Amino acid sequence: MSRVYNFSAGPAVLPEEVLQEAAEEMLDYKGSGMSVMEMSHRSKVYDGIIKAAEADLRELMDIPDNYKVLFLQGGASQQFAMIPMNLMKHKKAAYIVTGQWAKKAFQEAQNYGEAVKVASSEDETFSYIPDCSDLDIPEDADYVYICENNTIYGTKYKTLPNTKGHILVADVSSCFLSEPVDVSKYGIIYGGVQKNIGPAGVVIVIIREDLITEDTLPGTPVMLKYKTHADADSLYNTPPAYGIYICGKVFQWLKKQGGLAAMQERNEEKAKILYDFLDESKMFRGTVRKEDRSLMNVPFVTGDKELDAKFVKEAEAAGFVNLKGHRTVGGMRASIYNAMPKEGVEKLVAFMKKFEEEN
Ligand SMILES: *Cc1c(COP(=O)(O)O)cnc(C)c1O
Repeated sequence: MSRVYNFSAGPAVLPEEVLQEAAEEMLDYKGSGMSVMEMSHRSKVYDGIIKAAEADLRELMDIPDNYKVLFLQGGASQQFAMIPMNLMKHKKAAYIVTGQWAKKAFQEAQNYGEAVKVASSEDETFSYIPDCSDLDIPEDADYVYICENNTIYGTKYKTLPNTKGHILVADVSSCFLSEPVDVSKYGIIYGGVQKNIGPAGVVIVIIREDLITEDTLPGTPVMLKYKTHADADSLYNTPPAYGIYICGKVFQWLKKQGGLAAMQERNEEKAKILYDFLDESKMFRGTVRKEDRSLMNVPFVTGDKELDAKFVKEAEAAGFVNLKGHRTVGGMRASIYNAMPKEGVEKLVAFMKKFEEEN
């Protein structure tokens, strides 16, 4: 067996212990005589799996009792529609556009009501987070929407926007469980799990109970109502059962690591190794305003497209894979999620130093 250092933005690296455990349980989950993939989602065994996953997530994030945890399908992208369908009571919402995912959510919301762009960083290719301390948010906006960590551009909100009393909705796909959060500041926190938690196919939605109502936009499909899934504890229909099982294992792993405060410390340490090098290098440089740098996604360039391509190619041959930047921005991007060991970042930096010397 030979594992690479996988810097993919998603689907992304998972903790090796989790994969090993899943492999051991593949044919016979704890004496059930079957794989988790093969069992009824209504069985007692599976009920134990999904309940434990929720309990562990609640503990990790310190989720207040008046919030529901939903394990849904459709990826983060389905939430782009599900959020307005369920929340746009006045058919108006404010969007802060800080990258491609926020933009897609903003555009999707326009199908359901008036989506108002209250701030954007598109003028400088989304390389910063706009000042959100005093935005012009319409009084009757049903919510304020953000993408908290911008996977493609490598920016992250260090302070949440001043929503002026409006409900905050956040896509945290690429920073989920990377540091402690105060759930009570949000109406909805959601994310696709394939960046920092588990296999693609699961999206976790943490939603304040009073936002779960029958009062959805006309024509909202049963499957796209939060109430449907909240009432059935995420078992209205067959859930992405195996994916949820792996998420549960990652929650267990995170608890063993010391929880989210410990993860934040480790993530800061890892990111610092890379950012410090980018700041001193004569060849490589980061593309994001320093104050807004993400701990999870680190984009960088040499300034020379051919040299970028050479670097990506040689890095891959050396076992550092998926470092190519997103197709819309070019350059490189190292995603260093929870499961990327510090050693992976140290070795990458050593490789970059060597590349710089040789080129
Ligand atoms: C990857 C990503 C998405 C899209 O996720 P899907 O599950 O593929 O729909 C949305 N938002 C953010 C921040 C992402 O990183």
